[in-house]
Amino acid sequence: DATFRRFIDAQLLIAAQATSHEIYALYAAAALDLPNRGVVEVTGGVGGIARTLVSTIERHGGTVLLRHEVTSIRRRGKTWEVTTNRGLTLTGDELVAALTPWGLGQIWYDAPSSFRARLTTPPKGWGAFVLYLSLENATVPTGIALHHQVVASGPLGEGRSIFLSLSPEWDSTRAPVGRRAATMSTHTQYAQWWKLAHQSREGYHEAVARMIEQMVVTASAALPWLRQAIRFVLPGTPLGFARFTRRPYGWVGGFPQRHPFVGWPTEIGAHLWLVGDSVFPGQSIPASALAGLRVARAIARLYRADLHLSADEPSLAVEPGVMRSTTQRK
Ligand SMILES: Cc1cc2nc3c(=O)[nH]c(=O)nc-3n(C[C@H](O)[C@H](O)[C@H](O)COP(=O)(O)OP(=O)(O)OC[C@H]3O[C@@H](n4cnc5c(N)ncnc54)[C@H](O)[C@@H]3O)c2cc1C
Repeated sequence: DATFRRFIDAQLLIAAQATSHEIYALYAAAALDLPNRGVVEVTGGVGGIARTLVSTIERHGGTVLLRHEVTSIRRRGKTWEVTTNRGLTLTGDELVAALTPWGLGQIWYDAPSSFRARLTTPPKGWGAFVLYLSLENATVPTGIALHHQVVASGPLGEGRSIFLSLSPEWDSTRAPVGRRAATMSTHTQYAQWWKLAHQSREGYHEAVARMIEQMVVTASAALPWLRQAIRFVLPGTPLGFARFTRRPYGWVGGFPQRHPFVGWPTEIGAHLWLVGDSVFPGQSIPASALAGLRVARAIARLYRADLHLSADEPSLAVEPGVMRSTTQRK
């Protein structure tokens, strides 16, 4: 059934960056189980997760330096040396890079040629075009589901399939009184945005305006109140992602899950480790955390130690959300 396949494909594209023709079955099964497991809303949104991580690191004696961009890493004898744009130099026995391989390549000047050879072509996968919205709460229907997937006709992505998340009404940290925060994203080929930006500033801004309109039109088919509720829109293109998240090309979501070994190895060089969504098991915050745990265990083993996870670490207040997927035909 074509409609059912499209419904499945739209979900797979979000969770695995590939559709049913390409994705391997094991990953697809886990990805399609996500709505059954439920979506959770975290107090403070993704910023709440970041703040909790920072306070946990600090409580365990670690230090988090903000606004320090690592500009180079270098192997000196048996240690790694890390230099930041503020002139700080740090050394360590183990270096864990939570970067994409292309991001690592930008700061590892004496990387072996075998590593460099894999970076000559841009990463396979997607960019994201995101709208950060401020909505008039009075216009948002009471009790509406917080997550919506809306699929219009035509190929998926590029504003024709969107994922919209509303901030929970109970979370007063996300928006001023009377407002709700929302994010709306669509998959987009990142290369076209770089090409446009290099060709003409005007053409680029026109394309941004067209995409905003396309996304609002797509979403409005299922959420007719949306346009009226919008008070402020901040668009994020792959160029914005590259600038603010430092991910080269604005490539997001990791590798499309076409094969269990699409990801990079975690052990990149002597005592140099890669974590994040470019390694197994791929995209998402839980998957990146899992990759981090695997590397932490591997490092602990090197020092004949074990990794103990404390059961009394604080967890964020979460409320079970309702996932509603809507296949909407125009
Ligand atoms: C639109 C969109 C929606 C998403 N929604 C969800 C969702 O609902 N749930 C979910 O689980 N996942 C979601 N994801 C996926 C999730 O965001 C990623 O998989 C996850 O953030 C990957 O984590 P990471 O550590 O690999 O990389 P990143 O999140 O990119 O983190 C890398 C960090 O390193 C920093 N950095 C980079 N270079 C340097 C440098 N040279 N020096 C210092 N710091 C540097 C960056 O600033 C960044 O903070 C979404 C992704 C997108 C694009």
